[in-house]
This record gives sequence, C-alpha cells and structure tokens, in this order.
Amino acid sequence: MALKLRHTEPVSVQSLIQSLRQYNPQADVQPIQEAYDFSAQAHAGQKRESGEPFLQHPLQTARIIVDLKLDVPSIVAGLLHDTIEDTDIPKADLEQRFGKEVAYLVDGVTKIGKIQFKTHEEKQAENFRKMLLSMSEDIRVILIKLADRLHNMRTLHYLPEEKQKRIAQETLDIFAPLANRLGIGWMRTELEDLCLRYLKPEVFNNLAKKVAQRQEVRDAYIQDLIKIIQKSLTEYGFKGQVLGRSKHLFGIYQKMERQGIPFEEVYDLAAVRIITDTKMNCYAILGMIHSLWRPVPGRFKDYIGVPKSNGYQSLHTTVMGPKGYHVEFQIRTDEMHKVAEEGIAAHWKYKEKGQIDQKTDRVFGWLRQLVEWQQDLADNRQFMDSVKMDLFPDVIYVFTPKGDVKELAKGACPLDFAYSVHTEVGNHCTGAKVNGKLVPLRHVLHSGDSVEVTTSTNQTPSKDWLKWVRTARSKTKIKHWIKTEERIRSLEVGKKLLERALQRHNLSSTEAFKPEHLTALTKDFGIATPEGLLVAIGYGRITTEQVIRRLQPAAAVKEGLADKLIRKIGGRPSGVKIKGVGDLLIHLSKCCNPVPGDPIIGFITRGRGLSVHTMDCPNIDELDYDKDRIVEVAWDTKDAAAYAVKIGVVTVDRPGMLASVSAAITSAKANISHADITTTEDRRAILNFVVEILNAGHLDKVLKSIETVDGVVQAKRVRAG
Ligand code: MN
Repeated sequence: MALKLRHTEPVSVQSLIQSLRQYNPQADVQPIQEAYDFSAQAHAGQKRESGEPFLQHPLQTARIIVDLKLDVPSIVAGLLHDTIEDTDIPKADLEQRFGKEVAYLVDGVTKIGKIQFKTHEEKQAENFRKMLLSMSEDIRVILIKLADRLHNMRTLHYLPEEKQKRIAQETLDIFAPLANRLGIGWMRTELEDLCLRYLKPEVFNNLAKKVAQRQEVRDAYIQDLIKIIQKSLTEYGFKGQVLGRSKHLFGIYQKMERQGIPFEEVYDLAAVRIITDTKMNCYAILGMIHSLWRPVPGRFKDYIGVPKSNGYQSLHTTVMGPKGYHVEFQIRTDEMHKVAEEGIAAHWKYKEKGQIDQKTDRVFGWLRQLVEWQQDLADNRQFMDSVKMDLFPDVIYVFTPKGDVKELAKGACPLDFAYSVHTEVGNHCTGAKVNGKLVPLRHVLHSGDSVEVTTSTNQTPSKDWLKWVRTARSKTKIKHWIKTEERIRSLEVGKKLLERALQRHNLSSTEAFKPEHLTALTKDFGIATPEGLLVAIGYGRITTEQVIRRLQPAAAVKEGLADKLIRKIGGRPSGVKIKGVGDLLIHLSKCCNPVPGDPIIGFITRGRGLSVHTMDCPNIDELDYDKDRIVEVAWDTKDAAAYAVKIGVVTVDRPGMLASVSAAITSAKANISHADITTTEDRRAILNFVVEILNAGHLDKVLKSIETVDGVVQAKRVRAG
C-alpha cells in the first residue's frame, strides 16, 4: 500500500531520550525526565477519547518533536504543552520549574490553540497562517503546535464525525500549508493524506484501493527503470542513490481535480528520485537522463538555481520513459534532500552550505534568512536566539467581529482597523473594544486581537488622528477629509470677506454674487467655478481688493490700496479688529503671543482666517504658507488693552525672591495673573509669571524693573514652542 499512515505505538520517556541522544549526544536530558514527571502528575487520571491515558498525547507530541530533531527546550515544552490549558497550572509555575524559555513556548502553543479559524477563503487562510506565525515570534512554537496537531490528526478517528471534519478542514487550510512553508515535506504529505481521509472518505478509500491494485505492475516498471539508471550512473562514474517515489494520495487527488484527468493518467506517471553528492553532479545527471530519454518540453524546473521560498532545492524534469510512459525525475544532493524532508529542522543539525538565491520570492524570505544566518553562527544556541525574531516586523493580524483576519501596519490603532473596513466607518469612529474591553482610539493593536469599533454620525476626523494612525490608507483618508472640510470653511470665509469688502465700497452684494458676474470674474482670475473663486478668497490666494478693482477700478484707486494690504489690528486677542473686516477670523498666534508694539506679520491660513505672528516667531519658517498668503499688518494702539505675556526670571535660590520680583512687576503697573517657582540643582530658582502687558514698551519697563531686584540673574519674555 502507498499509504503511510503511521501507527501510534506507545512512547516512553526513555525512548525519547534515546532518540535525542542519536542526534545530540551531549544533551542534558534531566529537564526531559522532570517534564515527564510533572506532566504525568498534571494529567493524572485524564483519558483521551481513545480511552488511553492522556499522558500518551504529550509523549507522542514530544516524539514528533524529536523526529524533527529539535532542541531540549522544545521537547520539554512538548511534554508540557497541554498543562496550562487542560489543568490548573499557571504559567508562573512552569516558569519557576522549567525556566522562562520553556514557559514561553508552552504559553505560545496554548495561545494559538485558543484561536479558532472560521472561513475557507484562501486569502483569509493565508492571513491566518501569518497571524499564527506573527503571534508565535519563535518558530519552535509553530513546530510544537504542528507536532501536537499531527498527533491529534493521527488519532482523529476516535472523535465524532462533525469534529473530525472541522479539525481536518482547519488542518488542510492552515497547518499542512504551514508545514510546507517550513519545508517539512513528510509532515505535509502525512497531514494532507489524513485530511483527505476524513474530509472525503469515499475518494480516499477509492484511491487507496486503486493504488494498491496497480502497485505490483507499477513497482515492476519502476524497478526496471531504476536498473537502467543505476547502470548508466556507474558507467559515467557518478555517485547516486535511485529511489522509486510514490505520490501521496492527496497529491494524486489534487492533480486529478486540478487537471480534470482520471486516476490512471496521474498514477501511470512514474516518479523517480536521484540523490547524489554535489550540485555539479545534479546537473550532470540531468544531462545523462535527457540523453537516455527524450525530455517532455516545458517540464524542466531548476529549483537549485532558483530555490522555492521554503528553501526547497531540486532539479525537476519529465521524460518519455520506456513503453512511452511519462517519468518524473527529481535530482538533488543529500543536503537538499534533508531540507526537503525536514525543512528548517534540518538546519538545526546539518551545516553543509547550500547556495541560496536572494532574488526569489520574498514572501517567506525570513526563512531563507534564518538558514543563511545559521551558516554563520557558531552553535545551535545562537541559532535558537536568532529564531526568536519578529517574523513579520512590519505588520500585525487582527480579527474582525465576523472572524475574518485583517492585516494592518505594526503599531496600528482601532482607527486604522475602522478605515480598513470602510472610509465611512473610519470617519465616524467613536470608540473601540479590543478583546471585549473598551480602549481609547489611539490604543496600539497586537496580532491576535479581536477588534470591534463603534460609530456615530456626529463624529468626524481630527488632526490628532494623524498622530495615531499607522496605515497609509487611514492617513490619506483623514487628510482628504480635512482638506475637504478646509475647502468648505474657506468657501464660507471667502464669501464673508467678499461681502464685507463689497459693503465697504458701497457695492451691492446681491448684484455681485449674481452667477453671471461671478462667472465673469472667475474667467479674469483663471478659476474654473464661482465657488472656486470664493474658496480662493478664503484661502487668501486672491484678495478682496483684487476683486473690487475688477468690479470698480476707481474705488480701489481712491482707497490707495496697491498690492499690499495694510491692516490695522487692535483690541484684545479675543476681539482683534481689522478695519472693514471686523472680528472675522483673526487670531493672535499662541506660539509667539504678539503684544502691541511687537513687529508683526499676518498669514492667511487655509480656512482659519488671519493668523498674526511676531516677526521673529521661530515658527514662521516652518509654517507651510505660500509667500502670497503673507499680509502686512500693523497694530492699532488706540484702545489700550492688556495681553497675557509669559515672563521667566532666573534668580539665586534664596527666601523671599518671589515676593521681591512680584513687587517689582507690580511697581511697573502690570498685573500678575499666574506665578510659579522651581529650583534647580545648581541652587538657582526659576520664577515663571504670566503678566498682563499693554504693549512692547510696557513689557520693556516690566523686565527692566525686575532686573533691578537684587539676586535676579536674568529676566526675559518666554515664547512657547
Ligand atoms: Mn495537545
């Protein structure tokens, strides 16, 4: 029979240790014995569905881990892998008894065991596989989980049918492909055959029967073939082992399905594998085979020159063999064969170098990287440290409420999740629950999180959101929303500015706003729509004076306004006035807090009106205003109103300083609205005041008055930012 469904002979801890010693003679086996005793106690009295003691399951899992030639902590973790989940033993206990490393591995296996995979869509399955990998962070967690799953699959017949189907489907969708990705050929084929057995029992039994029936004829054909090849190898002086190869049942089934061909056509394809010593000989033997039989065009694949992403290397070719049957060949070195069968596990032990091509598929490039690193590292210990890396450094995988898996940028917050669902969900996102708990919108998500968001039509994006989100999509969407919003506000501002300018010149706004007038104006300014004109005014690209001049050239000349606008500002910050425009959207910038008398400059902002800064404001250069948004402004000092100014005073640290400085400020006729004091290590005190100042001259007086106080080192105005 082609079936190699392995039977599960009982495993003892002694047999585990014996097998470990074969590939790692120096291993310290004490922890294995301890883990066995611990597990035996923890699972005492528990039985599996098969009726055998539960303890056989961790033992069998550990057996598979030994088959994978993993290290001692992996074997220990295999023996303990169900203790957190199935018994009441906390992680801390394991850590105390077996160390951090083992506890971490067991915890990792427990965590991924709790996740249930629901959909059958391939893209979802792929995301789910990546989620498992990114949650694990250490490949050993996945390898232990695979061993656990393989033993469960081997004993699946004891479970009810419904459970069998669910577990088999999950294995086919997730775990068999993972085994393949990790390059563990034997485990992948065994898992796939077991899946077929439970998912399509009729197909499985039918195939198994047919394979068995034809086995004799087929074996004879392959034996003849092998004799011819071996003779030829000896003739040319090549070292080589020739093996007949049987396709696994799932492979036959897949080929029948994919190509729509009957069993006979797949199965009559003989398959032979030749294993030799060097890479050069692989190519030489390929030449020999092609000279013995005619190659089938289009079937040659050079996976030595260009390895698969899981590290697999071989030459593949198909020839027209004896009696006209197609024969498939795989030609590889011993090292390549080990990698193909055992995958990444082969690199734990074998150190021969294999050429690895950087240019091939990057999806699972990390695996290749591990292999490369392994060649440079002195011992297993170091290799194991490098295995504990971030497998997907840039992304995380989270669940939607429906159980789908979404890929997001690392550091993503619930807003990114919301935008990945839909733009509208993002724009109106008010709150989020992660794993059932309420979290702030800026909460950082992790792989494996279940995320749910709430929305409200009243909610809209804010500039803060740009600081929290990580994905390009969210950023674009938020910026787009803000830009649209700015345009709407600029339209309103532009309309008001124009209305007031028209009033000032005694022009009828109803007349000017007539579509035909506006349209004529838009042409003059080279703008597409009347709306666009108002927006341009609001943004400050076009001044109202420019518009007035078009409407009534004489008026502008009379006012004597040329290209520059001199605007007068006065009054309190909350009620600053510009002549003719009133208190519309003018504010004194908070970064430099201009006070009357300071040289100042105005900026027309996008949708936020006029912003006034001091000429020496450090932020001016950084502001992203166009040069033509700058307007000259001047103070209108008619009404004396007070401005809040921060003053910082450095003094020696001595009692009474605060009182003396306060007195000096008051004597300069300024009110103090806030004061605080801090001391420094070098015995200085820093006094901070907020003082109401009338203008720049007044400020000068206040500062001078402070500097006359004995003990003051320095007094100056403090600008924020
Ligand atoms: Mn288990």
